[in-house]
Amino acid sequence: MEVIGWAGTTLVIVAYCPQIHHLWAERCAWGISPLTWLIWLVASILLLTYSLLRSDTLFVIVQSINILAIVATILLVRRSNRICPYHLGVTRKNSGQ
Ligand SMILES: [Zn+2]
Repeated sequence: MEVIGWAGTTLVIVAYCPQIHHLWAERCAWGISPLTWLIWLVASILLLTYSLLRSDTLFVIVQSINILAIVATILLVRRSNRICPYHLGVTRKNSGQ
């Protein structure tokens, strides 16, 4: 049963990689809502507190990873200062240019 939890934890880590890589490599935060990520941060802090109170090691680890990845994302969004060529194309296509 525990393997299901660790598989889910692995997927949580993998899921953040494309977004963080794009923010890091391209300095492009196109389409990212900072408010959404702030709400996820508050939710993860609450869930980490709950997991700690219940002494649930797996969820303490998952929420700790979530908090680290969310903070990294928010910091990288604040550092972003351009729209990458791919998203610039998407923006032009949507505006009919
Ligand atoms: Zn981009």
